[in-house]
Amino acid sequence: MAGGDQDYPDVKLLIGNEWIDAVASKTYVVVNPATEKELGHAAMASEADLEAAVASAVSGFEHWRDVSPYDRSAIMRRAANLLRERATGIARLLTLEQGKPVGEAMAEIGVAADTIDWFAEEGRRAYGRVVPSRAVGTQQLVLKEPIGPVAAFTPWNFPLNQAARKIAAALAAGCSVVAKPAEETPACVAELAKAFCDAGLPAGVLNLVFGVPSEISSYLISHPAIRKISFTGSTAVGKKLSALAGEHMKRSTMELGGHAPVLVFADADVATAAAAMAQAKFRNAGQICISPTRFVVHRSISEQFADLFAEAARTMRLGDGLVPGTEMGPLASERRLQAVGALVSDAVEQGAVLRAGGRRHGNIGYFYEPTVLSDVPTTAKAMNEEPFGPVALIRSFDSVDEAIAEANRLSYGLAAFAYTQSNNIVLDLSNRIQAGMVSINGNLLALPELPFGGVKDSGYGSEGGSEAMEAYMNTKLVKVSRL
Ligand code: NAD
Repeated sequence: MAGGDQDYPDVKLLIGNEWIDAVASKTYVVVNPATEKELGHAAMASEADLEAAVASAVSGFEHWRDVSPYDRSAIMRRAANLLRERATGIARLLTLEQGKPVGEAMAEIGVAADTIDWFAEEGRRAYGRVVPSRAVGTQQLVLKEPIGPVAAFTPWNFPLNQAARKIAAALAAGCSVVAKPAEETPACVAELAKAFCDAGLPAGVLNLVFGVPSEISSYLISHPAIRKISFTGSTAVGKKLSALAGEHMKRSTMELGGHAPVLVFADADVATAAAAMAQAKFRNAGQICISPTRFVVHRSISEQFADLFAEAARTMRLGDGLVPGTEMGPLASERRLQAVGALVSDAVEQGAVLRAGGRRHGNIGYFYEPTVLSDVPTTAKAMNEEPFGPVALIRSFDSVDEAIAEANRLSYGLAAFAYTQSNNIVLDLSNRIQAGMVSINGNLLALPELPFGGVKDSGYGSEGGSEAMEAYMNTKLVKVSRL
């Protein structure tokens, strides 16, 4: 189709290993968040396309479930290697449609390839067990079976890696997938799917659809052939999808929003904590579910911490992610720009002190300045809703109990961070912080071998570690007795 960036491909649906236009020939426009210019088009699935994708996943599953884990693993490892070989081109697409600095895009592709490799091997270790019987001559086998065709809904913040996690775990377990990537970032996920197809993935095992999210999710979740749902996105949408999954008795994994507290105690190395957390905060323009957000700092060091953080924010280089030296790109969409701006204005109106940033950067592209607010009242909306942007919120505390109470105050429970040298405080935090992941004296990295998931309103299930494969498998008991 005419218009757009000449390096950006028009993206089609993937059904039965064929790249096809939507039956109704509908498309939508994909926009570069750094320039607000049209990049290209992606196909928009209607119900007929979704039905075809499910039928394809059903036949793909019938075949794939019987491919040995050893052979599945070989195909997956080839796909991982193809991703590595093609990383430079894919990173460019990822940056064009998502905005992050191209170095971050390269790193994301590296982690995605690593994730596929890890699940490829984990699939070969999906052991069942034999339970000793109470009766002689009876065997009790606990078998692991793939759950069936999966519907996977993935977001735009780590578009390639979030899709790789769900797809790799499902494929390793022997499941087929209908994936719906975020509308904003279709091309890089299409490249991921191409790597799988080129690696020899049989037809129908992986299918990609794009379109109106609510239409696709209601169709797929209620479809009897789909046996498992996995969603990464906001808590509000996750609650709707898990309610629908419950109605249709579908197993689901929900990786939802977070509002990570960072507790910095009086004995911490303030400069180290501020530098590491500023880097983590502004990575991907703060659009990370485990992004450090509520900085709860001991009163004796809070002024120093806020000064160091604000200095780090002011020196960040904003720009187009394709320009060398860019440290932070734009927000992913105009919607995010409006949402982040409104949260910052509300906090300032409620008495927060603006230490850095606090406004849109330039007037082309969805750039928002790295922002640091201190003395933020807990009534500010940003202290309660996930900002999902480059905004650090700082408050001070006096006692350990007060810090832990603030960490646990919200209904979110995804990630939490702390800086301290006290063994007793570490023990207290390990026991009392309500979060799926707690990182002490360092940054939290989402590695394939580590569990990744939340508690409370941040969802349930895990996207990493051996727990992630379990989510795609049924447990079947087979009891065999001698006649
Ligand atoms: P949004 O809620 O409109 O969309 C978020 C994601 O959910 C998108 O990928 C979208 O395609 C998908 N989605 C929305 N409605 C859906 C539905 N009915 N069925 C299936 N998928 C649906 O919000 P947004 O403005 O794009 O992003 C803002 C919020 O999304 C953030 O505040 C954050 O909480 C959340 N988010 C979380 C993650 C994460 O990693 N957990 C990633 C991206 C966005």
